Amino acid sequence: MSEARIVAVANQKGGVGKTTTAINLGAALAEQGQRVIIIDLDPQGNASTGLGVPLEERQTNAYDLLSGEQDLAQTLQDTDINNLRIVPSNHDLASADFQLSSRPGRTQLLRRKLSQATGFDYILIDCPPALGLLTVNAMVAADSVLVPLQAEFYALEGLSQLLMTVREVRQAANPDLRIEGILLTMSDSRNNLSQQVEADARSTLSGLVYKTVIPRNVRLSEAPSHAMPVLQYDPHSKGSAAYRELAKEFLSRQLATA
Ligand code: ATP
Ligand code: MG
Repeated sequence: MSEARIVAVANQKGGVGKTTTAINLGAALAEQGQRVIIIDLDPQGNASTGLGVPLEERQTNAYDLLSGEQDLAQTLQDTDINNLRIVPSNHDLASADFQLSSRPGRTQLLRRKLSQATGFDYILIDCPPALGLLTVNAMVAADSVLVPLQAEFYALEGLSQLLMTVREVRQAANPDLRIEGILLTMSDSRNNLSQQVEADARSTLSGLVYKTVIPRNVRLSEAPSHAMPVLQYDPHSKGSAAYRELAKEFLSRQLATA
């Protein structure tokens, strides 16, 4: 296996903060001296846009990794942030389910490529909002799954479906797959429902839920249109502080489980 720790950022529900978390946790870890790769495994390409990779520079991308045409080193690109690299996505990934589903070992395609990664500490995989072949490839390749959860009414229902997929992946292909943590996102301390869902999540999932909660913060939603993580766009915003805090908690959990 790769010496880097591989974390799939996944939730089949759309718009819950997967990409925002992959980009900003990645940037915060890099800021703290960790060598990080973000793999944009979503055909929407939001992580690639958010880290400033223009469309015309995505010819070599995550699809080439999955299809076996390229190795990790050939698909990596630098970002403006020291220690943070990205494998971009492009629309080719949209056909991955169809194109790759008849391949032998179709759930192991990414794992094979990532086992070559040397010289990195963390690989964060930004998954699409579905539990299809792309997300399954991420989970088979990963050491753990980090689940962003938006504090709203249906959040916990969707989570049980996701945890079922994690169990299936464990049984079929990756027995050591762990839940890295569950991250409450877009929290609003003035909203009673949001507070209730957070309380329910903590009582049912206890230790899995990060102490750090990501607040709703407009700077976080503005940063991608400036093609940079919030840590660079507005280093003193509440969003930056929250993701820095998350990076610290994330790293301290690594020490605790090492
Ligand atoms: P998809 O399922 O489409 O990939 P996602 O789970 O990756 O979505 P994001 O793209 O990270 O979710 O976030 C959805 C939207 O909410 C984006 O416009 C993003 O900028 C915004 N957003 C994410 N987190 C926050 C936050 N904490 N505060 C304010 N806006 C946020
Ligand atoms: Mg996304």
